[in-house]
Amino acid sequence: MKITAIDTCVLTVPTSRQMALEFPHHKLVVAEIATDEGIRGLGYSLVFSGGGAESVLAYLDARLKPLLIGEDPTAVERLWEKMYRGDRSVRRVGIAGMALSALDIGLWDIAGKAAKLPLHKLWGAVTDRVPCYGSGGWGKYGEKDLIAEAERYAGMGCRYYKMKIHDPDPLANRRRVEAVNKALGPGVRMMVDVNQKLDVPGNLRQAAVLEDLDLVWYEEPVLADDIAACAEVAGAIRIPVATGENSYTRYEFRELIERKAARYLMPDVCRANGFSETLKIGHLAAAHGIAVSPHLVYEISIQVCGALANGFLVELMDWMPPDLFEEIPACKEGHVRIPDRPGHGMALQRGAVSKYRSQGGRS
Ligand SMILES: [Mg+2]
Repeated sequence: MKITAIDTCVLTVPTSRQMALEFPHHKLVVAEIATDEGIRGLGYSLVFSGGGAESVLAYLDARLKPLLIGEDPTAVERLWEKMYRGDRSVRRVGIAGMALSALDIGLWDIAGKAAKLPLHKLWGAVTDRVPCYGSGGWGKYGEKDLIAEAERYAGMGCRYYKMKIHDPDPLANRRRVEAVNKALGPGVRMMVDVNQKLDVPGNLRQAAVLEDLDLVWYEEPVLADDIAACAEVAGAIRIPVATGENSYTRYEFRELIERKAARYLMPDVCRANGFSETLKIGHLAAAHGIAVSPHLVYEISIQVCGALANGFLVELMDWMPPDLFEEIPACKEGHVRIPDRPGHGMALQRGAVSKYRSQGGRS
């Protein structure tokens, strides 16, 4: 089998009403890989809030796509190495990591379709349903909206709910978390997300007023670049730290592990160089007794969790409009069933590209 063409574009997708308080849209860098045997792979990278999507597309088109044309798409590891090592002076983090991720996801989609297996089974499945947590709780929600969202997820059977703690006043965050915790009752445990907004002393103050709430984790306390600071927080607070959504390679995750900077690792398959690298990160975490809870894009992250014994929860967040994908895996009783379709199981709806394609078009 040979890759004959890769069609790429940026889709701009509107967010739900509540999320729009923070972000009007997200962008999706899409790479549809065609082969001479008629099998097509869908690769994409979700660029949350949209910033940088055009740069991801430019790097993918100019530097990565030419490396794949004419190659056998089922030799994923070899092609991953070719892309990862293609530019000596551009590290595969940030924009370049997101570009490589989209193509790796598309290559695996082809490999799964060629093998007639869903990816988690191709990788050696551990389960076909993955528990999920409801995620949202944005800082701009009023308390009523916050509780309504948490209860909506609980109504879907989710036993975990995650909310932002973005108020500069630690006690204001405490009041919001406590209000949600009370509304949800003992059947639902909670996580909180700092989204890199605090420094070390700020985190110590914040965590100290949350420690009695039996939180599952305390997420992304400091700037993702500063692993030393994350380790300092993790060593000083009593809530387990989770991080990794802005880490890109096995090497960054190795450092997080070695410095004991997190008890939960959260690679994002659309950032951390695709399924290939995320699986390696998952196995590395297993060697250290650390659970992996992939960031966002639950509709494809479930394939990774379904193949990892140390996979924990996927992040249920309704980031996509209902007419983007053909079939979106649903949450039932707090679990997402992994589609039994070959590959990653996701396909764009007919018409989605023309409806959501950003100006500047498709190459
Ligand atoms: Mg987060």
